Order: sequence, then structure tokens, then C-alpha cells
Amino acid sequence: MNSSVNKDLFKPDVYMKCICCGSSFSPDPWRFFCPKCGCLLHPFLTATMNVSWSELRKRRLGVWRYREFLPLSSKLEPVSLGEGGTPLIRLRSTGVGEAYIKFEGANPTGSFKDRGMTIGVTIAKHISVKGVIVASTGNTAASAAAYAARAGLSCVILLPKGRVAIGKLAQAILHGAQIKEVEGSFDNALDEVLNEYVKKGQKELYPLNSYNPWRLEGQKTIAYEIVDELGFVPDVVIVPVGNAGNISAIWKGFYELYESGLANKKPRMIGVQAEGASPLVKTWMKKSKELLVVDNPETIATAIRIGRPVNWMKALKAVNESNGAFISVSDDEILEAMKNLAMLEGIGVEPASAASLAGYKKALGIGLVDKGETVVLIGTGHALKDPDTILRIASWNTK
Ligand SMILES: *Cc1c(COP(=O)(O)O)cnc(C)c1O
Ligand SMILES: [Zn+2]
Repeated sequence: MNSSVNKDLFKPDVYMKCICCGSSFSPDPWRFFCPKCGCLLHPFLTATMNVSWSELRKRRLGVWRYREFLPLSSKLEPVSLGEGGTPLIRLRSTGVGEAYIKFEGANPTGSFKDRGMTIGVTIAKHISVKGVIVASTGNTAASAAAYAARAGLSCVILLPKGRVAIGKLAQAILHGAQIKEVEGSFDNALDEVLNEYVKKGQKELYPLNSYNPWRLEGQKTIAYEIVDELGFVPDVVIVPVGNAGNISAIWKGFYELYESGLANKKPRMIGVQAEGASPLVKTWMKKSKELLVVDNPETIATAIRIGRPVNWMKALKAVNESNGAFISVSDDEILEAMKNLAMLEGIGVEPASAASLAGYKKALGIGLVDKGETVVLIGTGHALKDPDTILRIASWNTK
């Protein structure tokens, strides 16, 4: 990759910074890990933003409303399907406090992954690759497949064999992705992408898993939209956590809003994992400096069935810097929350998304969150993603 191409791709003041050793680097679409210490990187812009909410609000609500805060050059035409601009819905009947759900199921392919793919695939389109490659529990696959199709690129997907929700698999097939099944869990599929493609230095398929920091830049707009729509910063944001990219991205968004003067405070971030796949809960509780991995992650919430989250260090920083917490919930609590959202609120989410409501109830119960506090739950994906689980748990009223 020569630097003149990079100059047209990114804004002139963008740089990448290592989250461990603090070294800075010029922006490079292919740099995912710090060349000095191997940790992950965050992109930053050096210029201070002087754009107001009223200026931003003249544009359509969505990822690209916040273009000043995104690293891509303002001259680039994005590969877009109208992602973002999802409903922020006030919960009316949970018998809990002042809570909203940010319904990310309303994105073009039904999950928040679209916010990242619009950035990632726009980059891919401008660096002369043949296509993109991802390991996925399903939603990243559905999203990458759709955005690659839109960009005229091919898409290679590695999935954990037999453990992908049928709606997500159908989407990947529909959009023409080339699908490879891998034995084991998502962690094994991601290993294969890293070892067989990324670390071998191939430049034909652009990798778009969430160690790719450019993708997370799109996902940070969840924070921007929450503040934009509420008109203030909530006290607490509750996020289902799998590979831990999203909680890191959302925290970065709140941090940037605060730094640029568009927000007067930052929320506490609470990450929720399923009991059978809770490496970050364990690591955080024990204050371990190493990730306490889960070898055989197991939960009905397949989107968060991950034992070795690649963004674990970023996510620990997000939770610690925000004075938040990691908590775990059982599969039964997840399914109960999913039913409550569906039957009492009219909101259909997939199991992983319902972990946010289950986590909220637990957090209220143990005094981690106060009833008087304003809380936003991230409803990460749509109910139609996983119809099998719905049919398994539903009790039918046929009279
Ligand atoms: C990807 C995904 C998650 C987990 O997000 P991470 O960034 O991997 O932590 C949660 N819920 C749904 C529906 C997802 O698709
Ligand atoms: Zn480093």
C-alpha cells in the first residue's frame, strides 16, 4: 500500500495509536496490530471538532451524519445501505426505571454490524482487493455479504459449523457469499482467518473482523445517535458482549463527544455476557492482567458465544474508565427478557440482544444501577435472525 493512496483514503490528520504502549502510526488500512508490542490500535483525529448539534441535525440521522468524526476522507463516496438512524424506544412496562432500547435490529441487514461494514467495505472498495473475508457467528457474515455485494466485491465467510442462526446463514447465502464451515466455535474460525490469511500477508481479501479498527469507527456512531436523539447523555449504557468490539466502539464514541464539547458527561458502560461464555466477566472480577479464556463457550445466544474476545483489552478499558461493570446472565434470564421485550413492548430481538435487558434487571437487583437513572440498552439484532429459537421457546395461543 503506498502512502499516496492512504492519503486519499483517510483525512489528513488521522493517526493510529496503540492501546498498550501508546506508539502512534500513520493510518494504514492493513495495520491491525501494533508493530512494536502486538496490541490493538485506535484511530484518532488530531483536529478539534467544531461542529454543532444543530449543524449535524440538518443531515439524515445515521452513520454518515457524523462524517466529521469518521476517519475516511470527505471526498470518498461511501458504500452505504442507509445504515444507522435506528429507533430509540422508551420501555413502558418492564416495571423498572427510565430505560430505552436502541433497536439496532432496524439496520439494513438487521444488526449493528452494518454501521461498521459501511466503513470497512468502503475502504475495501478503494484499496484494489478482490473481496472481503470475515469469521462470524452470523451477523458479521450477513452484513459483510450484503455490503460486499453492493460494492461489487466477493465475500468469503468462515462460520462455526452447525451453530449459526438460520436467518443469518440465509442472508449470507442470499447475498452470494462463499461460505466455509469450521469445526469448533467462532474463536476457531477467527484463528483460521488470522493464521491462514491475515498473518500470511495476503492482500486479495480485506479482513473485516472487529480487530479492524476502521470498522469500529462506524459502530461508535451508536453513541452519537443516543446523545443526538435523547438530547443528553444517559447515566448507563448496557451492551451485550461477544468479541467486545461494540462496547469498545460505543465507549470511544461517548469519549469523543465529551472531548469535543458535544456532551457534558460520559455514561457508565455495563457489558453483559452469557454465563457459559463469560471470559470478560471472569477477567474483570479477578482483576486479571491476562484474559481468562473460556475454551468451550456455550449459550443459546449464539451471537455472543465467544470464549476469546479479540477486543478484550479495549473492552476492559471501556468498562474501567467509565466506572462500569461486567455481569453475566443465564440463558433462562436471556429468554425471559426476550419474551418480555416481545410481548410487553412489541420489540423483537434475537437472544444475544435480550442479554441487555436481562443484564439491566440483574444490575438493578444488585444495586449496580439505580431506578432513577436513565439507561439505554443496546438491542443488537433482529428477532428474525434466529426463528428456530423463537419456535422452540414460544408457547402458542391457538384458541
Ligand atoms: C456481534 C453481535 C454482538 C456482540 O458484539 P461484539 O462486538 O462482538 O461484542 C451482540 N449481539 C448481536 C446480535 C451481534 O450480532
Ligand atoms: Zn504497542
